Amino acid sequence: MSKRIACVTLDIESDLLDKSGRIHMFENTDLMRRYSTIVQKHKIKVTGFLVTSLIEKYSAEIGRLSHTIPIEFGVHSHSHERRLKYFADEVSSSIAAYEDFFGAPPIGYRAPNGLINREGIISLIENQFKYDASIFPSIRMDEYGYSNLHLPNKPFRFVHSGNEIIELPAACLDTIRLVFSMSYIKFLGLDIYKTLMRFFPLPDVVVLDSHPYDYYTNRIAANIRGWKRYAHLRNGDKAFEVFESVVTLLQEKGYEFMFMSELYKYVTDLPKPPTVSVEKLR
Ligand SMILES: [Zn+2]
Repeated sequence: MSKRIACVTLDIESDLLDKSGRIHMFENTDLMRRYSTIVQKHKIKVTGFLVTSLIEKYSAEIGRLSHTIPIEFGVHSHSHERRLKYFADEVSSSIAAYEDFFGAPPIGYRAPNGLINREGIISLIENQFKYDASIFPSIRMDEYGYSNLHLPNKPFRFVHSGNEIIELPAACLDTIRLVFSMSYIKFLGLDIYKTLMRFFPLPDVVVLDSHPYDYYTNRIAANIRGWKRYAHLRNGDKAFEVFESVVTLLQEKGYEFMFMSELYKYVTDLPKPPTVSVEKLR
């Protein structure tokens, strides 16, 4: 896979730990304008993964965003429920809400906090999703801990009894598998990544994870406790600048920006994407 492709993804969910289900970006024209300006200036394409229970509340804003920037939508569960025993329910509710609004079924899914297991992938296959974007091929040490170091750090096919779904995993640096997402980049600083990339380069396909609240953590800091408060607040007032630097870096490295649906098509046309049995998941 020699072509370099970058997908900017935005998990459209309520702000971190906001119990009222608010998305500040959708209620503040300045935040919306700053985000859209960067996307337009650099001709980026954005794939928004929607928590579908928020569609009704923010239908006007979702519509406005679609008219302002190049954006397509996938699903980020129905209610951001993380408990895996509710996974299948979340999938079916999200499809109903998505179809109700867009008039067509969704093709891409990202599970909350990257939490997905064997049954979860099977449920996506059964519900005709074309691709999944839940896998972070890294290791996570907080309360949502997982280890996906045994999975490829590039697009692959998840297969299960003759059926398959394309996995488009989140970007990690080669070998050390450090996640390359807006939250992590803000926390560690882009300069550290630039140094590490000399030895552990980005993969040819970069799926960049982000959330609306990544751009204004300083406004919602009261919701966050402990070390995560510190982590999220780092570079909190410079988030838009960091985003623009990330985009510029990817452009300098020759990445072409695509929607996730375009990346999905590209991967399906490749002669031999790696194949992984669903049994490899917990
Ligand atoms: Zn989420």
